[in-house]
Amino acid sequence: MHYVSTRGSAPSLGFEDVTLAGLASDGGLYLPESWPAFSAEDIRALAGLSYVETAVRVMTPFVAGSLTQEELRDLCTAAYARFSHQAVTPLVQLDHQHWMLELFHGPTLAFKDVALQLLGQLFERFLSRRDDHLTIVGATSGDTGSAAIDAVAGREKIDIFMLHPEGRVSDVQRRQMTTVLAPNVHNIAIEGSFDDAQALVKAMFNNADFKSRFNLSAVNSINWARLMAQVVYYFYAAVRLGAPERAIAFSVPTGNFGDVFAGYVAAKMGLPVARLIVATNVNDILHRALADGDYSQGQVVATATPSMDIQVSSNFERLLFDAGGRDGKALAEQMRGFESSRAMRLTNAQRDGAAHLFASARIDSDGMTMAMRWAYDAAGQVIDPHSAIGLAAAREAGVDASTPVVTLATAHAAKFRDAVERATGTRPPLPPRVGDLFAREESYAKLPGTFGAVTAYIAERATPRA
Ligand SMILES: *Cc1c(COP(=O)(O)O)cnc(C)c1O
Repeated sequence: MHYVSTRGSAPSLGFEDVTLAGLASDGGLYLPESWPAFSAEDIRALAGLSYVETAVRVMTPFVAGSLTQEELRDLCTAAYARFSHQAVTPLVQLDHQHWMLELFHGPTLAFKDVALQLLGQLFERFLSRRDDHLTIVGATSGDTGSAAIDAVAGREKIDIFMLHPEGRVSDVQRRQMTTVLAPNVHNIAIEGSFDDAQALVKAMFNNADFKSRFNLSAVNSINWARLMAQVVYYFYAAVRLGAPERAIAFSVPTGNFGDVFAGYVAAKMGLPVARLIVATNVNDILHRALADGDYSQGQVVATATPSMDIQVSSNFERLLFDAGGRDGKALAEQMRGFESSRAMRLTNAQRDGAAHLFASARIDSDGMTMAMRWAYDAAGQVIDPHSAIGLAAAREAGVDASTPVVTLATAHAAKFRDAVERATGTRPPLPPRVGDLFAREESYAKLPGTFGAVTAYIAERATPRA
C-alpha cells in the first residue's frame, strides 16, 4: 500500500515510512492512495471473530508491503493483551436504539490506548529493523499524552516529549503522564491552550533541520497508523449489530477529527454506515464547518470535556482532501489561506462530499449533564462527559428508529470524576488497573509557550541522529 500527502507534493511512501514520519514533508497528512474494498461477503466473514482477529483482517491491506499478516497478528496480540476486557471494545445497550461502544478498557482509561498500544509496537518493530532512534514530540489535551507515554515508556530507541497546556488537563490525566518516571519520558507543561501547544509541535515539524537532527515523529492523530487502528472498532461493533445486512449510525465525541475520520474510512471500505454524527462541545468549529461550510477558528473555551477543547482539527484536512476530490495542490493553497487568516469556506465539492454521510451537533454543558443523567436513569450507566456529548448528539440526531445508533464512549468516567460528580452526584472510583496513581511522585517541566524555550529544552535532552 502506498500513501499520498493531502498537500500533493511530498513523496508517496509505504506504511513503514508513513508510520515513522507522522506529518508529510509538505506539511500535509498521509492517506492511502486508494481505499481497500471489503465486500458484503468479507464483512460477513468477520462475524464471531475476536477483536485481535478482526483487527488483523481489517488492517492487513493497509500494512501490505511492510508487515506480513503473521507479524501484524503478533503486534496486535501484544497491543491488546493489556486491555481489561476480553472483548477489548465491548458494546453496552442503553435502550431499544442506543448503544455505547466502550473504548476505555486500556491502561490509561481513554480510547487513545486502542491506537497507541499498537503504535508503540509498530515503532519498536520498525526501529529495530533499521537500528534507528526516534524522538516523539506531541501535544496533548490530556488523553493522547498518557496513552502515548504508557505505550513507549522504557523503550530504548525512543525519547518522548509531551506538551500539555498547564492547568487545563484533569488531575488524573496529568498524573497518568507525570508519574511515569522512565528516563525516556519528558513531560512539559506550557503556558497556553492545547491549540498553542499543537502549533508549537507543528512548527517543530516544519523546521527541517530540527526535524531531521532528532528524527522527530508524531503520535497525535496526524499519524496515519493511529487512524488505521481505530477503523477496526467500527467494523467490530457494526458486525455485532447486524452489518452487512443492516446499516449502523455512529455518534462520535470529536476534537481533532481523528476518531470520526476512522469511521469515514470504514464507510469508504464498504462498511454500511448510516450516518456519522460529529458531536462537539461549545468549541464548535467542526459543527459550523459541516452545517454551514464555515471553518473559522474561534477562541478556545475551557469545558468539562478538555479533550474536545480544540478549535483547529488537524484531521479535518484529510476529509477535505478525500471528499473534495483529492486535489492536493488546491488543498495546499486553501490550507495556506486558512493558516494566514484563521478562516476558510469549504468548497461545494467538499460540502457535497461530506453531506451524504456526516451530521453534526453542538452540545453545551446542560445537554451534556442531561445525557449523563439519562444514561444513568435509562440503563444504570455512569458515563464520562465526553461520551455524554456524543450521546446527547446521538439522541437529538433523529436517526430512523430501525437503525441502531452507537455512541463511542471515549473515556472511563473515573478519568473525569470531578465533572461526573458535579453532574450526577456520583463519584466513580478509579479502576484497580491504575493502581496508586495519587501516591506516586510527579516530574515535569514548566515552560513558556515559545518555540525557542521548548526547542532548547528538547535539544538538551534528546538523542541527535548519529
Ligand atoms: C481525544 C479524545 C476525544 C477526541 O477525539 P479526536 O480523535 O481528537 O476527535 C474525545 N474524547 C476523549 C475522551 C478523548 O480523549
